[in-house]
Amino acid sequence: MEIMFQTTGKCNLDCWFCAYRFLDKKRLNELNKMYMPLDIFKQYAKKCIDFGFNEFQMTPIIGEPLLDTTFLKKIEYLHSFDSLKRVSLFTNFIKLNKSKLKKLLSFPKLTITISVYGLNKGRYKETTNVDMFKKFERNIRMLSKLYKPTSAPIEFFIRCPWNDSTDILKSLIIILASVKPFHTNYYKRNNLAFLNWNGNWCGLVPDNTFPNQRKDHDRKGICWYSLIDNSIDPTGDIVLCGACDIEKKTVIGNLNEQPLEEIYSKDSLFADIIEKQHNNIYTGCCEYCSEHHVPQQKTIDEHTRRFEWVKKLISK
Ligand code: SF4
Ligand code: SF4
Repeated sequence: MEIMFQTTGKCNLDCWFCAYRFLDKKRLNELNKMYMPLDIFKQYAKKCIDFGFNEFQMTPIIGEPLLDTTFLKKIEYLHSFDSLKRVSLFTNFIKLNKSKLKKLLSFPKLTITISVYGLNKGRYKETTNVDMFKKFERNIRMLSKLYKPTSAPIEFFIRCPWNDSTDILKSLIIILASVKPFHTNYYKRNNLAFLNWNGNWCGLVPDNTFPNQRKDHDRKGICWYSLIDNSIDPTGDIVLCGACDIEKKTVIGNLNEQPLEEIYSKDSLFADIIEKQHNNIYTGCCEYCSEHHVPQQKTIDEHTRRFEWVKKLISK
């Protein structure tokens, strides 16, 4: 079963579609200063492991995990538990050097998703408002040199929300050709995903602000993210949806104040939310969210397994 950690809220890019731009100053400051010290992380992680969580998503709701100065030590700590099944993260792949990348690639239970915000200098700057394409390209080249068949699996997540996929594909082919070892060593056995839509960050972004903005108002049943994206921040709060609830509208408990057994009990707020979603009623951060997620066919077994686990938990 999976839980998320938000160890930082800072980012080194400034993407035009990012929720940062819509936040009030108070929350923005809070996120920019957000940092989970290593000792606190260890306390929270141990509680999660003891409770039965064995998969960890390390991507903050917004922010770049590699800006967290003790990030690698945190992943190392999770790997000290035999029960650990998987650690995953999304990164913009900018804040790296050779030794950091080597270490990152060496974790046996880590999967890395690299967000690609443009495949040429111009597009990258247009998307991120920062002139970092050279660094990104340099790091991809470094990756191609350091990657071994035993390295952590990598997925590329193309996040250029323009309607010109031909341009993106052309650039992608150029980049893949320019980093040939990367192409031949592992690209074929890993994933490439495209994301060309935007959500509304639980209603924070008004309808039709972005091109291809989702409007899932005819949703039904339990949103997959409310089962896999409960997220712990440095205060110990567990936010229901670490993928979208940027304003922290729905906190289901606090790790400093309650045991996980209580946060996930049958009388908990979490159980109440899941029960309501089961009956097509969406409250809290989900009320105005445009991102209702259902598992894709390929993840349906995984979804059933997690749902069964959650049902068991909240019936205790
Ligand atoms: S990299 Fe992610 S968190 Fe940073 S500005 Fe872009 S979308 Fe936002
Ligand atoms: S409905 Fe939206 S806010 Fe609620 S869990 Fe799903 S993605 Fe998150």
